[in-house]
Amino acid sequence: MNIHEYQAKALLRRFGAPVPDGHAVLKAEDFEAAAGSLPGPVWVVKSQIHAGGRGKGRFVEAEAGELGGVRLAKSVAEAKGFVEQMLGRTLVTKQTGPSGKQVNRLYVEEGSAIEKEFYLSALVDRESGWVAFVASTEGGMDIEEVAHATPEKIHTLTIDPVTGVQPHHGRTLSKALGLSGDLAKQASDLIGKLYEAFTSLDMAMLEINPLIVTKDGKLRCLDAKVSFDSNALYRHPELAELRDLTEEDDKEIEASKHDLAYIALDGTIGCMVNGAGLAMATLDIIKLYGEEPANFLDVGGGASEEKVTAAFKIITADPNVQGILVNIFGGIMKCDVIARGVIAAVRAVGLQVPLVVRLEGTNVEEGKRIIAESGLNVLPADDLDDAAQKIVAAVKKGA
Ligand code: GDP
Ligand code: MN
Repeated sequence: MNIHEYQAKALLRRFGAPVPDGHAVLKAEDFEAAAGSLPGPVWVVKSQIHAGGRGKGRFVEAEAGELGGVRLAKSVAEAKGFVEQMLGRTLVTKQTGPSGKQVNRLYVEEGSAIEKEFYLSALVDRESGWVAFVASTEGGMDIEEVAHATPEKIHTLTIDPVTGVQPHHGRTLSKALGLSGDLAKQASDLIGKLYEAFTSLDMAMLEINPLIVTKDGKLRCLDAKVSFDSNALYRHPELAELRDLTEEDDKEIEASKHDLAYIALDGTIGCMVNGAGLAMATLDIIKLYGEEPANFLDVGGGASEEKVTAAFKIITADPNVQGILVNIFGGIMKCDVIARGVIAAVRAVGLQVPLVVRLEGTNVEEGKRIIAESGLNVLPADDLDDAAQKIVAAVKKGA
């Protein structure tokens, strides 16, 4: 689950990390009071969307001279002028894709005088299973580009969960960022607080880009991006209210209600598969035969008929879907349950596109019989290769 910058900053502030003062603004009429309560002399107006690159982004139908999704103002009046240019409009950044994202919330913040910009993030290192911090002197830039062009400027330190953050981690971080004296002390302090926030809230990622040194010698988190490990959210019911459904894909919201592992993709072949590995292999083979998958979907091990029906409805609701491939290898999952779920869903929502079903494993004969006797126009397949070729051919023919 992702959250907005202003929400991430409020959480970090709770853990004692230095973030500038600011207020979220959801309605234009609240802006002036929010901005007026900050001291100035500079105000920053920031579009709140679940995507980075806002500063260099562009609004759809931007007028000449209109700047991006993060703007500096020298007065409340000037800042107020930005509200109309941002709220309700669609911002396109490197991370939103070409259609962009509508800005429904703003954040107004006290401006900082920047001396230096750094990059600092934390994530779970898959290899060690420990939290790793990634730091670089190249702040405010696209970190992937830095990693590609100048990998020596990226420093990684992992934290042993038994000891937590130790003084030597602080020294390593300060050295990586070229900080000494009081700033080194602030950096040590910061990494401890960020680690505490990361682990106690079960974050999956925490990115501060940029972390800055102000002209008066203070470290500050100027931007903050946080995502949580969805599998641990049950431990933090208080975080649920930070979820902004307008930022999420409708189909993914529906899928999460049914506890389905569903990710929307932008191809044309809808997929219903059991098991994440088989689902990945199914996406690969569709691509191999020259089409693009419309989604990743793992219905899981012991899915009920209702769950299968819900999954099928989500797939057919996607207007980009021009064909559906059901690929089930029944182990715990029984093929007859899948067959009944598919038929129930087709009866409920109809079937406008070709459907290929490949069943194998537990109760396969029963599953095949149910589908054959249903009178539905289903193309049966013998194996995954056959299934992929059949659905790709059917979609190509229809297009
Ligand atoms: P992003 O573009 O979505 O990553 O949004 P950021 O919050 O990182 O803002 C983009 C850039 O705006 C930063 O890298 C800074 O250079 C600049 N910026 C943001 N806040 C301030 C501020 O308070 N003062 C100054 N001078 N620049 C700022
Ligand atoms: Mn940023």
